Amino acid sequence: MLNFEDPIPAQPSAPRMPAAPAAEPLSSALTGIHDTRRIRAEDKRIINGQADVNQLVPFKYKWAWQKYLDACANHWMPQEVNMNRDIALWKDPNGLTEDERRVVMRNLGFFSTADSLAANNISLGTYRHITAPECRQYLLRQAFEEAIHTHAYQYIVESLGLDEGEVFNMYHEIPSIRDKDEFLIPFIDILCNPEFKTGTPENDQKLLRSIIVFACIMEGIFFYVGFVQILALGRMNKMVGAAEQYQYILRDESMHLNFGVDLINQIKMENPHLWTAEFRTEITGLLKKAVELEYAYAEDTMPRGVLGLNAPMFKEYLRFVCNRRCQQIGIDPIYPGATNPFPWMSEMIDLKKEKNFFETRVTEYQSGGALSWD
Ligand code: FE
Repeated sequence: MLNFEDPIPAQPSAPRMPAAPAAEPLSSALTGIHDTRRIRAEDKRIINGQADVNQLVPFKYKWAWQKYLDACANHWMPQEVNMNRDIALWKDPNGLTEDERRVVMRNLGFFSTADSLAANNISLGTYRHITAPECRQYLLRQAFEEAIHTHAYQYIVESLGLDEGEVFNMYHEIPSIRDKDEFLIPFIDILCNPEFKTGTPENDQKLLRSIIVFACIMEGIFFYVGFVQILALGRMNKMVGAAEQYQYILRDESMHLNFGVDLINQIKMENPHLWTAEFRTEITGLLKKAVELEYAYAEDTMPRGVLGLNAPMFKEYLRFVCNRRCQQIGIDPIYPGATNPFPWMSEMIDLKKEKNFFETRVTEYQSGGALSWD
């Protein structure tokens, strides 16, 4: 059983806004019945906040606002990437090996529905339980990025003339993909259930657990075998358009993960009573299970060595990645001493001011609205 006897830190004695309950944060704005006292930044909370969620400023969570600005500066669209070389290579009967084609197909099979799950999780689940408007602003941007990613996969499927029914049904039909999604879906469903409300230690732990599963496992572990595979293809000058799309997606997803980690740590700081030894043990078990599922996916997608990669290399890589997730949220590393067999992946994540390795264009890709005028 969970132990909630640890003292809950005293709340500041500042005047509280008698706003609506946290799970119905818009109702005060809709009815117009809210206190006329102005909100104070220090009254904001990530969960179960009582301050008006419609007032973005004064800022309290400046890190979230900064991530929103950074994400907007990284804006990109899938159709801006040239897919001609991919189309020619895919149609050439001698262009790719059967094992390379399997990697591409399985990748699209997993990711084409995973980012829809992510978008639904944010917009129908997480968003309404988060009461900090700075974080909501980032989540709105993140939800759009998940839509761009789904668009990117659809665009690759369409460009290559793939059987869309086959690709988009893999999350039902391919066990190594289905098992990952079946692991995730219960944690998403909890947050999307209209009856679910935060405000009790038990439910607040459910929310925190789901946020950890989404950020650290889905975006932080389940995407990484696929990212490595497609970027490895690109490094061999194959499927360069798809690889460029994945590079932008990886950059976005790294930021989603970092936002998720900051969100988790801020919730822990504001609600230390949730972070019990039992809870940490449970999270450790979920992370271990996730590493097993992702390793099974690596084995299924690479039954033989391909692209200079093989499934056993991913055993070490996933342990390394999992340790990093543990460290980011304050859990003891599960696999001490694991090392990174793919150091080039960190270059892929940091695109700033570097010429793209495909040499199609400079990757300092920023929207006009983000230009500096000084
Ligand atoms: Fe994401």
